[in-house]
Amino acid sequence: MRALFSVIFLLISMFLNGQGLHGPGYVLVIHGGAGNITPARVTPEKQVIYEAKLKEALAAGQKVLANGGAAMDAVIAAVQIMEDCPLFNSGKGAVFNAEGKNELDASVMDGRSGKAGAVAGVTIIRSPVEAARRVMDSSQHVMLSGKGAEAFAGEQGLELVDPSYFYTDESWQEYLKVKERLEQEGRKGTVGAVALDSHGNLAAATSTGGMTFKKYGRIGDSPVIGAGTYASNESCAVSCTGHGEYFIRNSVAYDVSVRMLYLGETVEQAAAYIINEKLKSQGGTGGLIAVDKNGNISMPFNTPGMFRGFVKHGAEPQVFMFR
Ligand code: ASP
Repeated sequence: MRALFSVIFLLISMFLNGQGLHGPGYVLVIHGGAGNITPARVTPEKQVIYEAKLKEALAAGQKVLANGGAAMDAVIAAVQIMEDCPLFNSGKGAVFNAEGKNELDASVMDGRSGKAGAVAGVTIIRSPVEAARRVMDSSQHVMLSGKGAEAFAGEQGLELVDPSYFYTDESWQEYLKVKERLEQEGRKGTVGAVALDSHGNLAAATSTGGMTFKKYGRIGDSPVIGAGTYASNESCAVSCTGHGEYFIRNSVAYDVSVRMLYLGETVEQAAAYIINEKLKSQGGTGGLIAVDKNGNISMPFNTPGMFRGFVKHGAEPQVFMFR
């Protein structure tokens, strides 16, 4: 009898904690881009502002997860906070291409169903990550680009904005600077989120303006499933940031997953090898965030810094930017 009561008590407390039947409870990890993020460039005043925004994004996703919501809803909620914030290179504040225009890319992947959605080169969709989700849920396709993606988003009732919505003076000044030097510098961060929900499901989302001064029509890794974004309930969920061409050539997000499955590596080992050895040896800069099916996380980067943070079930959110 006593044992029966203990089991009932345990189940009730798991339910109340939002853990459901899944052991580790929920985990959410976010990034706001990797790059030349150093104390010299991010002043103490700016650090406070970045930390507050990263925490706000974590809180938005955590709210979903703590209520027993889906990992997909959590990653979208977290990414949308950063898309709407001019501090990051996604949505409002996205960097400019060589023509002085904002072209946005985003993708999502659901680890339970294996379904994915992406948009590339869009210029008037306020939330590219939401458009990516609609491609996954409401179309027969995985990726839509340019005008076709924008028409689809309109049909879906998503908010369309004038391209000037994405303009920020900071991104424009960076564009002018890079135009002058014709090199990548002071890159602002792409945003991403990965989550494990209390039902044991994984999801990943990434949203970006791409690389400053990219060629008109250039598509990076962020909307490419397996390169910038990947999720599978068998292994892990991954969102990447960095020099996209290297992430595409190395199928980075998928590689984290399959190294775990085929080589038996931990998420930490797989992610660290790819970022700090494989990519680094090729000159590929950037980082990634990952969470595995047991709630273990990894956030490696081979740049001076990466905006990042995580929150686990029942714990305080933590955010970082430097090494
Ligand atoms: N990975 C993005 C791209 O190449 C840029 C970034 O993460 O900073 O488009």
